[in-house]
Amino acid sequence: MNPVQSEESPLPFGRFFLPGPTEVRPDVLEAQVRAMIGHRGPRIQELMEELQQGLRPVFSTERPVFVSASSATGLMEGAIRNGGGPRVLSLVNGAFSGRFAEIARACGCEVDEILVPLGGHHDAHELHEHLRMRHYDAVTVVHSETSTGALNPLEELAPVVAEHAETLLLVDAVTSAGGTAVRADAWGLDFVLTGSQKALALPPGLAFGVASEAMMRRSASLSGKGVYFDLEAFASKMEKMQTPTTPALSLMYALRYQLERIREETIEGRWRRHVTMAERTWSWVETMREENGVALRVLADEGYRSPTVTCIELPENTKGPAVVKALAERGWVIGSGYGSLKATTIRIGHMGDHTPAELESLLQEMEDVLR
Ligand SMILES: *Cc1c(COP(=O)(O)O)cnc(C)c1O
Repeated sequence: MNPVQSEESPLPFGRFFLPGPTEVRPDVLEAQVRAMIGHRGPRIQELMEELQQGLRPVFSTERPVFVSASSATGLMEGAIRNGGGPRVLSLVNGAFSGRFAEIARACGCEVDEILVPLGGHHDAHELHEHLRMRHYDAVTVVHSETSTGALNPLEELAPVVAEHAETLLLVDAVTSAGGTAVRADAWGLDFVLTGSQKALALPPGLAFGVASEAMMRRSASLSGKGVYFDLEAFASKMEKMQTPTTPALSLMYALRYQLERIREETIEGRWRRHVTMAERTWSWVETMREENGVALRVLADEGYRSPTVTCIELPENTKGPAVVKALAERGWVIGSGYGSLKATTIRIGHMGDHTPAELESLLQEMEDVLR
């Protein structure tokens, strides 16, 4: 068995570049190991207050940040159940944005899609035209589409939705929040969510969401929201700095520790580090093609690429799973292509707590494997 995949004997930090779950630093892992506390007393209140302080900059918000004991998909469903209506418009440019549309359908919504080719992004003008033609109760969008490495221009899409007072914008920021700017308040996002195991570099199991006032009004107007992801319950418990159900305390201890690390780096510093890693990856792809004769290509359009994950198209005779396997044999983990892109692409998750130096070592290793 390859050493990286054995959880008993992990290799030193810096070799695990999956686009989620991402690698978690040993000290962050260790921060989980603390005694339990009751979740209705003063101590949970202190913990939650600290978490709120640390989480607000991640979403650039003054609103409460809900903490859910679920994976991110839980809050995608929560987004629909609290913010949906009969009609939803889903912007689909890959597997995760497709999942958002599926969730809306599974919750009984009537869903139209704006579908763009894999690697592509959504355009404000086209969205404007769709919203002009028909009323939608909500629009779903994935900021950083992890299956293709495309970054949607959220700051251009959001004002288009804002022109329609009865249309809410529901945003999956799972691989953007913590790795690049996500301005919930300034961009007027009605609901924005992420998970712990991507750019925040924590173990999986927590999801975070910020709801606008309009979203909370919509939630109050809807029945059939179920229990677990009812945002009204989150909001009312948040007044006492509590969660509706038993919180995932161990993960919250790790989160508190990680938010302190983020505060030290500064959130802007963290965003800059991600840009540095992404730009290095893209320029490496160019060099491989132009100078080393290996026909690699970044799948996402220039100018609309995610700073946290890059999806790389391989030369015709090179298969994605073979590259992933060759790297694993050398003790490195990258992501295979997602869904229909499995054979033709690979993905590098340059996000979370990775550094440019660690990325450089990975790229050197990849150069060896690909030549
Ligand atoms: C990973 C991911 C999800 C799903 O997250 P889970 O925590 O597995 O539920 C959703 N959206 C995007 C963009 C993702 O990268």
